[in-house]
Amino acid sequence: MSAVPESEIPADVPELEPREGQQVRYTTCYMCACRCGIKVTLENGRVRFIQGNPDHPVNRGVLCAKGNAGIMKQYSRAKLRAPLRRKPGSERGAGEFEEISWEEALDELTERLRRIRAEDPKKLAYFTGRDQMQALTGLWASQFGTINWAAHGGFCSVNMATAGLYTLGHAFWEFGDPDWERTRYFVLWGTAEDHASNPFKRGIDQVKRNGGRFVAVNPVRTGYQAVADEWVPIRPGTDGMLAMALGHCLLRDGQFDWAYLVRYTNAPQLVVQTPGEPGDGLILRDEDGAPLVWDLEQEACVDGRQAEIAPALFGAYTAPDGRPVKTAMTLLAERYLDAAYAPERAAEVCGIPAADIERLAAELAHVAFEEAIEVPCEWTDWAGRKHDRFIGRPVSMHAMRGVSAHSNGFQAARAIHTLQLLLGSVEVPGGHRAKPPYPRPVPPPARPARETAPDTPLGGSPLGFPVAPEDLVVDAAGEPLRIDKAFSWQAPLSAHGKMHTVITNAVAGDPYPIDTLMLFMANMAWNSAMNTAQIQELLCAKDEQGAYRLPYLVVSDAFHSETVQFADLVLPDTTYLERYDCISMLDRPISEPDGPADAIRQPILEPEGDVRPWQEVMIELGARLGLPAFTNDDGSPRYAGYNDFIVHYERAPGIGFLAGWRGADGDKPLRGEPNPQQWQRYIDNGAFFKYELPLSQQFYKFANKGYLEWAHEVGFIGAAEPIVMALYAEPLQRFRLAGQGLYDGPAPPDATDAERIAAYCDPLPLFYQPLEERRIEADGHPAYPFHAVTQRPMTMYHAWDSQNAWLRQILAQNHLYMNRARGEALGLADGDWVWVESHNGRIRAQLRLMEGTQADTVWSWNGMGKQAGIWGLEPGAPEATRGFLVNHLIDDRLPAREGEKPLSNSDPVTGQAAWYDLRVRVYKAAPEEQGSAYPPSPTFRPPPGVENGPLALLRYATHRARELRRSLRDTLTRGGWQ
Ligand code: SF4
Repeated sequence: MSAVPESEIPADVPELEPREGQQVRYTTCYMCACRCGIKVTLENGRVRFIQGNPDHPVNRGVLCAKGNAGIMKQYSRAKLRAPLRRKPGSERGAGEFEEISWEEALDELTERLRRIRAEDPKKLAYFTGRDQMQALTGLWASQFGTINWAAHGGFCSVNMATAGLYTLGHAFWEFGDPDWERTRYFVLWGTAEDHASNPFKRGIDQVKRNGGRFVAVNPVRTGYQAVADEWVPIRPGTDGMLAMALGHCLLRDGQFDWAYLVRYTNAPQLVVQTPGEPGDGLILRDEDGAPLVWDLEQEACVDGRQAEIAPALFGAYTAPDGRPVKTAMTLLAERYLDAAYAPERAAEVCGIPAADIERLAAELAHVAFEEAIEVPCEWTDWAGRKHDRFIGRPVSMHAMRGVSAHSNGFQAARAIHTLQLLLGSVEVPGGHRAKPPYPRPVPPPARPARETAPDTPLGGSPLGFPVAPEDLVVDAAGEPLRIDKAFSWQAPLSAHGKMHTVITNAVAGDPYPIDTLMLFMANMAWNSAMNTAQIQELLCAKDEQGAYRLPYLVVSDAFHSETVQFADLVLPDTTYLERYDCISMLDRPISEPDGPADAIRQPILEPEGDVRPWQEVMIELGARLGLPAFTNDDGSPRYAGYNDFIVHYERAPGIGFLAGWRGADGDKPLRGEPNPQQWQRYIDNGAFFKYELPLSQQFYKFANKGYLEWAHEVGFIGAAEPIVMALYAEPLQRFRLAGQGLYDGPAPPDATDAERIAAYCDPLPLFYQPLEERRIEADGHPAYPFHAVTQRPMTMYHAWDSQNAWLRQILAQNHLYMNRARGEALGLADGDWVWVESHNGRIRAQLRLMEGTQADTVWSWNGMGKQAGIWGLEPGAPEATRGFLVNHLIDDRLPAREGEKPLSNSDPVTGQAAWYDLRVRVYKAAPEEQGSAYPPSPTFRPPPGVENGPLALLRYATHRARELRRSLRDTLTRGGWQ
């Protein structure tokens, strides 16, 4: 850990401007999800500039355009400035608001929530966006007693996260990273600019400087793909097929890490082979539940958890009870070596030549096995065996958006992890490394809460990881209990909930009507909805008596978003520079593979207007409602506010929201009693905490005795036992058996659910055509020859910054991008306005032709189109007149089939929103239609306190610059530039 001065400019930096009146404060950026450490220089109480914190583990000083432009977020015209209530008698969505006091707002909300809690707590649905405080909101929901809580993960990347947690015990991004320092071959599947931003810039730079190879698999060549050594222009939705074809080549050629698979995965475990009978496909276990393997020396089935045995990796055997069994690896090889996954077949599906697939597989194998590396270091494995080095397979991968956003994304991500396991490149030097508190047991042991009762907290978290049909959140008839239908037969492993279905389900009363929807930082009436126009209509839908079908909508946000416009009650949040916050290890960690880390935010500026951090509001509401975690026995508030809560709340003895400087004297890292000085210790250390593992614990964490014992001591895992990675995902087979009518327990309530569960809950990776695409083709819709996807620009985080005067100057209009040759063949020219039509509607957009787009794909930047008057935008703003939103074309339900219940347009295993399954056709707009986007945006009236109109402030400085003529030589030699 390094000490960073809080408010002093180091003396050895030449002064290039007057420093009197300047102060430096350290905090954490929130202009995207990356959570870089920043160093904010203040001058006379205003931000002079923002720099990256060179000591911070996430970004090591790197700052991106968004991070720099955080200044202008403070000067956004869209900032909300006071609590607002929809004017009595006005229509929802009309934007008729009146300012009210916080006391009035909280009284109104408390009264309503108290009534809901006393009657039926699940009538409150509480969903949050990219908020980074899910540990607190989840605790609050659990204490309130509603199972209807989740964050935005169901429409973000739950496919990636769940596939990883059910396979490796960790995953990509927040769960694990490439070993940038040592990797020699890095494969990036899909887009990563939005989440893994600055760390990937540093990482890719490091790989290239070390002479490594960077391969980018993506239908679009922008961002990171533009600097890749090889661009693999894949057809959207076919990544799983490519990963399996690569696995096919590795298995066919014997290029896999036999010893690694035997030691660290369930590949040698025996799987029962009795098709059509109960128990088929489950792991063979002894009476104590131990998984059995075939020991080659004893020639018998033995407990696979023992160290000194010789398990067979391949083979078919007979169990002691006479049932036929095969090793999981044998089943995997049979699946992968089928002609359905041969390179020639994959070439047809993915649009990548078979020879390239063969070459890529050979390159992966060559680097993994011929360029293996060693890190000399004594370490002890779980069985007590000593080793003098770590063996490394220097191949690493990353996948997130792209792969995730398809209805086959869970199995695609499983296929990518399987590829990593075949290469033996997980948690090894040069490979993909877990970030503590990961890895966790496969899957993590938490199950989702199901039972609710008036005035009663839940028995656990509303979210978790089902391993069998008994864990589903369904009623006795098998019907969903959650408003989003998460953890139901329609999405059994929906570990992050299904936020994208909430409004549609709630308005339809399916599975039941709710009373109040509370949203925090989630723009569900615009770019976070799959079917934007319909969602706006649904929010205003009334019943026969003229009452809103969704009776009450509460929105907390710092800015005037499209969703705020529909709220009944608006609670204005602060910006990230105006509040305390914690980036907790109980939540979405910022750890690195070499050790756990967390961070804080501290107020740099005074909040403007009558705004309050949502964190403080949560604590106060918890106390007002008498939720046990937030009140004393006598009903008085337990905490003086958010800071007090963060310091004193303990999830388990010694474990709290912040892991640094615990213990009364602040001398206990990770676990210890509360330390009243904890916030100050973070501030003194540059707003972050990092614990560096000794080298002997940095690799093979899943089987590393030293690491496992330490991880158990600090509460990361429940027992210091090895974590066995799952090549074969047995929980999925339990669901599949239920779908086949062969499970001794709960069963799907109807044929549709049964058929889907049986087809997609496969314990081995498989590839299938995305669901909507398949239905559109089979149902005889007109031809939609193009896949339509979105990408993330480096300069905008989704829809967050169309209010930001600096970032708008970089990007204020999105275009529809198409492959140049394909566009010209269609008679389209660069700059044409075109219609883009799906089975769900059509939009008009301006076309750009470019070489770096796969021939069957069109794409655009995500979330750029906006509604006029929202986000402080003037009526003629490019975002509202020339920008467009692809979401208008997407449906949140699959095309209907007669006699079938409505099905969400989601991955059938995890419920992940299938945004990228969209198919469209593109044709030129008529001459009179050229020049503007469709649908046109009405101009909305801003609420009290919010301005819109032409931007008044484009430039910003706290004083006139003095070094305008400074030469590069001077900068480099005299310094002062960092
Ligand atoms: S990558 Fe994200 S968190 Fe980091 S500086 Fe840029 S906007 Fe801020």
